[in-house]
Amino acid sequence: MKAGASAGARQTHAMAETTAVARQLDLAGAAQFARNLARTLAETGAPAAAVRETLANLVEAQCVQCGIRLSADDLLALADTGEPDPALAPKAARLRQGYCARSGCESYYYQITCRPGGGVDWNKVLAGVETAAQAQRSQAAEDEAERAQAAKRTRRRRLAARVAIGVGIALVLLLIRQWATGGAIPLIRQPAKYTADPASVNERPPE
Ligand SMILES: [Zn+2]
Repeated sequence: MKAGASAGARQTHAMAETTAVARQLDLAGAAQFARNLARTLAETGAPAAAVRETLANLVEAQCVQCGIRLSADDLLALADTGEPDPALAPKAARLRQGYCARSGCESYYYQITCRPGGGVDWNKVLAGVETAAQAQRSQAAEDEAERAQAAKRTRRRRLAARVAIGVGIALVLLLIRQWATGGAIPLIRQPAKYTADPASVNERPPE
């Protein structure tokens, strides 16, 4: 049974090397895809020049509507983390915005075809690209939740500060009022319990 499973794995591996693997790419995630593809290929131990060569020889990225194709350099310009210069890399600049590289084409999808060759296991590479994209999506969601929490904390602190200032002002006003009217001020002045007219002390009670 173990031998059979291993033979099956060998067969799958052999198939991966002889069959092209195709994916449809939503252009909204084109830059992320290109970046993860270049990174995943590099992680298989290929030097930068080999990554470019693999992209040039084995990867075809074509618009499903207008049929324009991206070169390895287009893909690498798209993978670059810097903002592409529309003058130097007009295709990458348009793709980065989620549009087809051809000005005027309204397609949102490209067909990615990875041809066999160079010992690249495309199923494995594309699975790695998808895993990286998933990790980035959940990281982005975590960051967003963290930002929302931080904003909430800031709002609460501001509200608490405003309440404290309001209470402080009320206390000062109360203090001024008590001072002016002769009322009690805790720790400073005891309340006058009663007032007596001194003249009334000398008055004799009526007989
Ligand atoms: Zn197009």
